[in-house]
Amino acid sequence: EHGQTDDHIVTTCAYCGVGCSLIAEVKGDQVVNMFPNKNGHANHGHACVKGRFAWGYANHPDRLTKPMIREKITDPWQEASWEEAIQFAADKFKAIQAKYGKNAIGGLVSSRCTNEEDYLVQKLVRAAFGNNNVDTCARVCHSPTGYGLSATFGTSAGTQTFDSVMDADVVMLIGVNPTDGHPVFGSRLKRRIRQGAKLIVVDPREINLANSAHIKADFHLKLRPGTNVAMANSLAHVIINEGLYDEAFINERCDSHEFAKWKGFILDPRNSLEEMAAITGVPAELVRGAARLFANGGNGAIYYGLGVTEHSQGSTMVIAIANLAMATGNIGRPGVGVNPLRGQNNVQGSCDMGAFPHELPGYRHVSNDAVRATFEQAWGVALQSEPGLRIPNMFEAAFDGTFKGLYCQGEDIAQSDPNTQHVEAALRAMECIVVQDLFLNETAKFAHVLLSGASFLEKDGTFTNAERRISRVRKVKAPLGGYGDWEATMMLANAMGYPMHYDHPSQIMDEIAALTPTFKGVSYQKLEEMGSIQWPCNDDAPEGTPTMHIDGFVRGKGRFMTAEYVATDEKITRRFPLILTTGRILSQYNVGAQTRRTKNTAWHPEDILEIHPHDAEERGIVDGDWVGIQSRAGETVLHAQISTRMQPGVVYTTFHHPFSGANVITTDNSDWATNCPEYKVTAVQVVKV
Ligand code: SF4
Repeated sequence: EHGQTDDHIVTTCAYCGVGCSLIAEVKGDQVVNMFPNKNGHANHGHACVKGRFAWGYANHPDRLTKPMIREKITDPWQEASWEEAIQFAADKFKAIQAKYGKNAIGGLVSSRCTNEEDYLVQKLVRAAFGNNNVDTCARVCHSPTGYGLSATFGTSAGTQTFDSVMDADVVMLIGVNPTDGHPVFGSRLKRRIRQGAKLIVVDPREINLANSAHIKADFHLKLRPGTNVAMANSLAHVIINEGLYDEAFINERCDSHEFAKWKGFILDPRNSLEEMAAITGVPAELVRGAARLFANGGNGAIYYGLGVTEHSQGSTMVIAIANLAMATGNIGRPGVGVNPLRGQNNVQGSCDMGAFPHELPGYRHVSNDAVRATFEQAWGVALQSEPGLRIPNMFEAAFDGTFKGLYCQGEDIAQSDPNTQHVEAALRAMECIVVQDLFLNETAKFAHVLLSGASFLEKDGTFTNAERRISRVRKVKAPLGGYGDWEATMMLANAMGYPMHYDHPSQIMDEIAALTPTFKGVSYQKLEEMGSIQWPCNDDAPEGTPTMHIDGFVRGKGRFMTAEYVATDEKITRRFPLILTTGRILSQYNVGAQTRRTKNTAWHPEDILEIHPHDAEERGIVDGDWVGIQSRAGETVLHAQISTRMQPGVVYTTFHHPFSGANVITTDNSDWATNCPEYKVTAVQVVKV
């Protein structure tokens, strides 16, 4: 996975959390082809259509190549030099702080930025802005993973390598669709299923792995959206009630007092199969069969996605999943584990790097005096001990008039965050928004400064995939805008009056390693030698850690936690009688800013609404009709597709295109612990137009 020649450069895919190693074939200063690296540890020579054609957008005419500024968002854009644009932004930010206080500005960073870029933005906010108002778009996808896995296991990370699935005997997929969202992992999983491993799918929709020409799950628990926790507790109920739990594992590895409490809760009649079946809509005998299979079937591995996290009980469900894995002894060896499949290439990394308002790099709380002192000494400034604002709190504060300036690197909040109208009103209420991106995105409509971002082909740095694997991103060509994203952040810090200087991203990684115990052994030199490294990588594990929690949980004893089902506030009514849930398709990636500018658009030119034949017939809708969809938040229009993949009462769409803009419809409801939006449950009405 290492080494490079003049015209073949090894780098890492900039899309999903599989983090495939790719080889860019370069002629002159242009990429002419991209193919999978057979020595790539995450992908072993495979790639999907997204990664193969990823380079297509790098030279798209829509790319921003010059900084631009304007006083008001109604003014036309004016080209500016980098120095002018950065000074313009810094002056505005300083004026805002002078008028409204130090906490009136903040920064957002993306799970598509490199580790080094993420680290630098949080350093800019904490050291140069002087507050903790930094957040990452992981807020809206996997923040509940951080909460749930930290509380139960002691660290926020998937426990396995991808290869580990080849040792699994039973795989449980919960709220995840790997053949579309994580295709290279999806193929490996299919291979394992064909070899004889059993498969349980927990999903409101019939994903390909649940039932297709080549694969049929042993159990498809087609639950109602919003009832995940009820389902997890009913699976646990069978396992405990029938004595199928791993007593030896629990006695040795887990807190016995917490287990006893949890066991009592799970056996409570309110968690009985019958009670829970009434909530989930899944027949009790199916749940019983799936629970027995998972507990008795050998190595049991759980993989989950945003169908778990993007709920009002996202964090509760991550805890419930951890409970299931501990109860069945499925932690700490190959073939088992709890594995969040991350949607973006560097979700894991942006969280690891401290791009959360409450945590410094390495998941250490800002209120920890000793940890803060280490950073204060290294950075030469005093740091705030109170957590800063999360993304939705920034919007609320904008309405209150206490939050006025935002540096936004690589995230299109106006398209990707829920309840678009609410987000746009908050952005309008701010006085200076700096957008650093590849394209004039939806958020840029509200910006005062535009900085041209660098594509992954124009960066040196690292990404960390869903198996904690740190891989190099290598610069294939010069940044179209002249500077890398890390250089822009550095310039802004200096213009704000906080001196920052690095000659190369490798120096940023050296600083990360010096300040973060789990990264202590990571360096670009070691990445050259090993190709990639899975953290923790330090004196105890100089070559990294493929499987976590082997000799005990990171927190010591594994902690069972009561995870009670509480219904979401998002209710269906006569006015909004259907539930909308959302997901991805193979050929497009997230809000589509990149894939819509590649040849992939031919395969999925628009988002479609999937609707069950009964619901369609009731409304006089036939395949291909234009339909209107309305929620309490807003309305949009898209084409309908009649599909028995859906259950009656539930409709589904993807969220890749701004034309239909799925987030015009989604609401402000969010996870109780982390504010991760409840994208997966929205009460709607669908009408023929
Ligand atoms: Fe690999 Fe994901 Fe990129 Fe596809 S999108 S090539 S699976 S990293």
